[in-house]
Amino acid sequence: MKFLIIFLCVSTSLFAAFETVADSDSGIFGPNYASILKKMETWQSQYGDLAKIIDYGKSVRGRTLRMLLVMKQRQQEMSIHPTLLMSGSTHGDEYLNIEDRLPEEILRKSRNDGPVRDFLNQGGAFIFVPILNPDGYEARTRENANGEDLNRDWDVTPAGFKGFREIETKSLAEKIQALTQSPYNLRIEMTVDYHCCVGAILYPWSYTKAPLPPLDLAAHIQVSEIAKEALDIGHGTTNDILGYMPVGTTKDYYYDHYGALSFTFEGRYESENMLLPKHVQWWEKTIAKIVDNAPFQARTPNPVGQFFRIATGRWF
Ligand SMILES: [Zn+2]
Repeated sequence: MKFLIIFLCVSTSLFAAFETVADSDSGIFGPNYASILKKMETWQSQYGDLAKIIDYGKSVRGRTLRMLLVMKQRQQEMSIHPTLLMSGSTHGDEYLNIEDRLPEEILRKSRNDGPVRDFLNQGGAFIFVPILNPDGYEARTRENANGEDLNRDWDVTPAGFKGFREIETKSLAEKIQALTQSPYNLRIEMTVDYHCCVGAILYPWSYTKAPLPPLDLAAHIQVSEIAKEALDIGHGTTNDILGYMPVGTTKDYYYDHYGALSFTFEGRYESENMLLPKHVQWWEKTIAKIVDNAPFQARTPNPVGQFFRIATGRWF
């Protein structure tokens, strides 16, 4: 009997731990999706010289999939535009109220002296996808309306994994790919996908314990250290922090496919929304490092699909 009770206690706590990971609702609630779409329209009209709405498809339930592209009017002499990509609510119940306010903060910073303005003046660009999974966001579910986990639906070639079975991920990946071609010529340099609720920043690989090549790992750690300083969080791979190895995550895709510095930001339950100024600080410091260390004009474009292009020491 005693053993049975011990067994029941242990199995219940294991189940609770598993549930925390599998069902990590953020406890933070935002406006309805239509209001977020409207807010993006306001930014476009307030910052007409910089901000452009791009609708890239419809969700399973027919909601508009929308991103905001922020860059100066294309400078013809520039063949590439280093791009920072931020997305949120890939898991619809992990909304942090950071990913839908950050674009406005960045746009505001573009009007004053500082790294954001320098970055844009040098041809840099931002892509904001505040709500990647609008059906999940509205229904307050982790998955999309087909019950699929959109952070398990991205191609990861070295894992032999084929994703993009869902319309939300497929449409976004195809649009980003199109934007890397003429006339936009964006080059995806860094990506952050906002999630909840571990209080950590995670970098590739997700799918394996094998570490990144040393220079790539060092570059990811340097950006993570800036985040740690600004936001008082830990960092590591998904396995380091969460103890499992999911296949098909955004960060593995962006790193594998574009050679980007790729992160999953795991916010904190019920409180991450209080830290917007610190998120802005992290972005500004990171952008300052990019601007200081590598004038983009001097950089050569890399073909898509190659690994390890960030290992060239261009940034740090
Ligand atoms: Zn998540």
